Amino acid sequence: MLNTEMQNFFEDILANRKDTYHFAAEDLADVKAFLNKQDKIRLKVLEILKIRAIEELTGLKRFDEAGHVLPLPAPQVTVDYAEQKDGYVREHWTMETLPGIHMPLFVLIPDSVKNSAADEKHFYMLAAHGHGPGKDSVTANMKLPIWGAPRRGGAYAEIMAQNGYITFAPDMWGFGERRMTDTKPYGTSDCTQLSDAAEACGFTLLGLFVWDHMRIVDYMLAQADCEKVAMIGFSGGGEQTIYTAAMDERIAAGYAGGYLHQFKGGMLYNHMCSCNFVPELFKTMELWDVAGLIAPRPMLYENGTTDSLDGIGGIVNVEVAANHLQEMYDTCGLSGNLDTNFFDGGHMYKGDKTIPFFEKHLR
Ligand SMILES: [Zn+2]
Repeated sequence: MLNTEMQNFFEDILANRKDTYHFAAEDLADVKAFLNKQDKIRLKVLEILKIRAIEELTGLKRFDEAGHVLPLPAPQVTVDYAEQKDGYVREHWTMETLPGIHMPLFVLIPDSVKNSAADEKHFYMLAAHGHGPGKDSVTANMKLPIWGAPRRGGAYAEIMAQNGYITFAPDMWGFGERRMTDTKPYGTSDCTQLSDAAEACGFTLLGLFVWDHMRIVDYMLAQADCEKVAMIGFSGGGEQTIYTAAMDERIAAGYAGGYLHQFKGGMLYNHMCSCNFVPELFKTMELWDVAGLIAPRPMLYENGTTDSLDGIGGIVNVEVAANHLQEMYDTCGLSGNLDTNFFDGGHMYKGDKTIPFFEKHLR
């Protein structure tokens, strides 16, 4: 079968990957070996995401030569308007993340924070959205019931704000207010067009996502009342959380829902738009190698057992990835910093372990 030949062509590429940028048994012998391999893989992910190209274009030094994050001055923001919501004030901001690139975002400030003592410290939460109408989907601001079940995506930014976290929910490139044109229906996205354009111009869309999120982290950490920064995201937001937390060691803890799969047997065929695909990534490492860069920082991975994105093998595919990650946390002597929530359900934000997880690991 001709189609099988082509499928096998790519399967063989992934099946024959070397251990150069992959956590192998010898890399888990002790903490030193693990951290050494982490440094090597982090530099490779930095190269693959083409973040050096953004540094070259802007003259902003985001990472040192070893691939570790460098602080940048807080980006410029304007506060456009504010609305009182249920338990928090929702402000609409615009943040300049790159020269001439302006990112709209909602900043949710809990009433408990507004009423707290001036010298009290607070936890900041970066909430990344998946596909759909961008920041609206995670702030319970969806204007229409799109994409079937209205719970899809979950309003986890609002939930975090209602639990006391100062929460930033941006629109990423191609979503929400950052669609390329306003001619498409509400809730559609331009990630594929922008991903193709980015790659043809020597960037990757995922690298630009990571850059924008890291500029928010710069802003958060510049605030006098910031205790720690954490990140949460479901689906495409889970993708953004894994890659941003992998590259930005300032993120103290994270939740990634509906995204801990495997490239092999899963993402190669299951994820249909281009923002999931980065040149050379799949042939170089597995997704758990990227997620392994976050270890031993606390992470919660949540997946539905019937989520079609789990790929061939279903939830077993996800459990294999989680088991590899558990070995890394065990090696670091911090087994309890990794948590999973594999629930009976599809591609959806469940969230029943999220607040207890962050409360345990941040407070
Ligand atoms: Zn996409």
